[in-house]
Amino acid sequence: MQCKICKNRKAVALLRHHNLRICDSCYSPWLERRVYSTIKQFKLLSKKDKICVAVSGGKDSLSLWTILVKLGFNAEGLYIHLGIEGGYSDKSLEYVKLTSEKLNKKFYIINVKHELGKSVPEFPSKRGTCSTCGLIKRHFMNTFARDNNFTVLATGHNLDDECATLLGNTFNWELGYLERQSPLLEERDGFVRKVKPLCLCSEKEMLLYAMIEKIEYIEDECPYSSSATSIFLKEILNKVENRMPGTKMRFYKEFIKKKNLMFKGNREELSPCKICGTPTTDEFCAFCKITGALKKFREESVNRSPVELASREGETNPVPEQQNR
Ligand code: SF4
Ligand code: ZN
Repeated sequence: MQCKICKNRKAVALLRHHNLRICDSCYSPWLERRVYSTIKQFKLLSKKDKICVAVSGGKDSLSLWTILVKLGFNAEGLYIHLGIEGGYSDKSLEYVKLTSEKLNKKFYIINVKHELGKSVPEFPSKRGTCSTCGLIKRHFMNTFARDNNFTVLATGHNLDDECATLLGNTFNWELGYLERQSPLLEERDGFVRKVKPLCLCSEKEMLLYAMIEKIEYIEDECPYSSSATSIFLKEILNKVENRMPGTKMRFYKEFIKKKNLMFKGNREELSPCKICGTPTTDEFCAFCKITGALKKFREESVNRSPVELASREGETNPVPEQQNR
């Protein structure tokens, strides 16, 4: 079968949803054009942006970084070392280094154990390691990008990831999460702009891109991924897609098109967390609750009670009577 684009070379893939047979030479430019048109359609990025790409060492984030650089965007990487056992995090880091060298672009590392005294799996978690992991990653991605003058944070979520999230949130009618699910989250109250330029590219399309572009990435699964609900939801979605091709794309695109009608004016108000300043709907953010910062803050507040402070000061440096009143 011939490639439908160049009409010359042998096709290596049939993209059923796009009704396209395509050869290996035409594939990468075709996918890069699609990513570029997603960027334009949702007004995700401009050439003036300083982009922080969250790279995990996996195929999607490393491909995203590659595509953005090839498209002429100013994109640097951020790797969050989670401290996953069995050398998983160390190995992932090696792949990030390889891509960074290949692209000749800088990347930064945040080591969770150095920052918080514990690796991600060491945090006790009622809702599972992945939930804690996601929260910690989101926190560091946002604070790092914000504090280092990046104008935008880009993540490698693909269409399958987005559909799994959408399905999970719909099952639970998580209205707050549904409202925030979007290819573009504008900068707001201490959150940097967040974009997902791969949101219309499927998992299979990204895998083929990584293979053709010879992107080296971690192929092992994270040991915690087997318990991740998203994997189960993706299996369900794949079954539906096989039976009804195009379902995933429709599910996601129609949601994005219609969600503004559903959520008009229902936006939750955010205020800075009293400890770390991260925007939150509560007094303290989820990151501070999970990492023990809130516990420490409360303990310190007790220690700093006015009675104790006055008596402590009184031992070494008597407070003038006037000030005690
Ligand atoms: Fe983190 Fe879970 Fe992903 Fe592993 S599978 S990196 S624990 S979110
Ligand atoms: Zn906080």
